[in-house]
Amino acid sequence: MHAPASRPPIIYLDNNATTRIAPEVFEAMVPFLTENYGNPSSAYSFGKRVEGHLKEAREKVASLLGCTPKEIIFTSCGTESDNAAIWSALQTTGKKHIVTTQVEHSAIMNQTDWLEKNGYGVTRLPVAADGTLSLADVEKAIRDDTAIVSIMWANNETGVLFPVEEIASLCKKRGVLFHTDAVQTPGKIDLRHVVQSDIDLLSMSGHKLHAPKGVGVLYAKKRTKLVPFVIGGGQERGKRGGTENVASIVGLGRAAELAIGRLSDEQTRVRALRDRFENALLERLPNLYINGKRDQRLPNTANIAFDFVEAEAILMMLDRSGICASSGSACTTGSLDPSHVLSAMGLTPARARSCVRFSFSHYNTDADIDHALQVIPPMIEQLRAMSPLNADHPDNFNYDIEAAREKEEKLMAQTMAAINE
Ligand SMILES: *Cc1c(COP(=O)(O)O)cnc(C)c1O
Repeated sequence: MHAPASRPPIIYLDNNATTRIAPEVFEAMVPFLTENYGNPSSAYSFGKRVEGHLKEAREKVASLLGCTPKEIIFTSCGTESDNAAIWSALQTTGKKHIVTTQVEHSAIMNQTDWLEKNGYGVTRLPVAADGTLSLADVEKAIRDDTAIVSIMWANNETGVLFPVEEIASLCKKRGVLFHTDAVQTPGKIDLRHVVQSDIDLLSMSGHKLHAPKGVGVLYAKKRTKLVPFVIGGGQERGKRGGTENVASIVGLGRAAELAIGRLSDEQTRVRALRDRFENALLERLPNLYINGKRDQRLPNTANIAFDFVEAEAILMMLDRSGICASSGSACTTGSLDPSHVLSAMGLTPARARSCVRFSFSHYNTDADIDHALQVIPPMIEQLRAMSPLNADHPDNFNYDIEAAREKEEKLMAQTMAAINE
């Protein structure tokens, strides 16, 4: 039996993966997890009174986008909202081609992969080295049989923003539906002009804005034809079956309200935390690169290449200091597949595997950054000193990837063994 190891306090720098539930959100939810358990569809007042709270939450979420409550459909998550948007467009248009990008979240990427295997056409637009997208490429990709263009607003790995409002206008001119995965945006950039844009469909997710996991939003602009993806009862005005996740929806309403109130904190204080973190690391360590166009990013995201080191080793050592961050890729531990986003930006596999994403929130403090800045530089120096990659870095695309992988797997094992000594 081991004595319980004393754990350092958690410094949470992974807010693009999920966020803490705001205490105000939790408080708003409690009555609906306890005494207020009625079904909003019931005829008696015990249910009806829940319906009133749903209505209020819908209004609050609508104000995030400046839209009407009727344009808000609650779903079970961001993934469902993404899947539902694409699915509906294919059904309502009868067309079989989708335009998207090479850097989408797996919700869109894996759905479009599936569709492609099942007879649909998919065009995946490339991005530039700084992660940006060309409007001309979007225009060229649209065909007569294009059902929908789906392009994320902000990239979850790099924070890079795409000009989705311009893209939406272009799509409207061409008579094509436009969807954006905006899961990473609420509370970070102002979305209150969405209703004035030509965006037809937009996805959000509760747990990325300090509401619970397992609740999402699909915005569907007035008069956008929509068929349900989840078919069942007449909930959500027939657009999404299934009894409403009342407590989480109420929580999301409160979170939307907080997000609007905290926009300026995010764009000033949180941005300053992120910038101080990046600049201090760049000053302190050589061979560091910031991924993504620096002035066209979310204010809270830093994606950094630590050349000559494996991100997985960095993450393991950070974990021991109680610091939560993540590697660019959504890969499972031990897999050496580089992130599809960083690969699309042209990073070499070796560099892509050295990248760590730090994402901040309203709940991060200057002390968090101070602590991280104390821990990270010596850690990187130590890992670099142990890394033979330092000597012969395969910094181009022309090397034998299989041989490199084998070598790196061995290396990784050695590094891990050294860490665990
Ligand atoms: C987290 C995330 C999703 C998925 O949302 P879930 O609610 O976890 O299904 C989709 N897109 C982006 C960009 C995300 O960051």
